[in-house]
Amino acid sequence: MDISIGLPAPSLADEVATRPTRAEAEAAVRTLLRWAGDDPAREGLRDTPARVVRSYEDFFAGYETDPVALLARTFQEVDGYDEIVLLRDIRLESYCEHHMVPIIGRAHVAYLPHRRVVGISKLARLVDAYAKRLQIQEKLTAQIAGTIDEVLQPLGTAVVIEAGHQCMTTRGVHKPGVSMVTSKMLGAFRSNPDTRRELLSMLPQPSGTPFT
Ligand SMILES: [Zn+2]
Repeated sequence: MDISIGLPAPSLADEVATRPTRAEAEAAVRTLLRWAGDDPAREGLRDTPARVVRSYEDFFAGYETDPVALLARTFQEVDGYDEIVLLRDIRLESYCEHHMVPIIGRAHVAYLPHRRVVGISKLARLVDAYAKRLQIQEKLTAQIAGTIDEVLQPLGTAVVIEAGHQCMTTRGVHKPGVSMVTSKMLGAFRSNPDTRRELLSMLPQPSGTPFT
């Protein structure tokens, strides 16, 4: 008899709120090692669960970052600079939320300032804040653009991401060398063809070489 009948199922909110302990996370890795067909007790694998959990702290560091707070400090002394600010070729490391394998690529982030600018390293940090989570590329692109638009309130925001997805290259259809391109254009980049064209002329050509 199933004794759980009649008890309320734990809600998703409860599962998120009660973060598992490090020991529980390591035990989960041992389960996966056994599932893969190996012996977690053998010497080479003994410290693997601890290493994997530490790796996860790095891979998913974005959950610890508040993307809005990253852009809080702005500079207003720009001497009337009102042209495109573009940070190109930002290394992107993210993780597919369907398979938990890497998405590797590069991001280009642009905005058309309205009276204030932000430190350029903050744009790269913003990319990481959303990339270092479980993602799909479409959502990642929209989140980066949406946050710049909301916090800086520029005249326009554009985010272009090109990336290879290991769930397509190392499993499933096994198609290495394929990259996916997504873009989110807001404000003047969306509504003004000249502004959009100027941005596109500033972007690097797709490399054509697979991301690693
Ligand atoms: Zn995937």
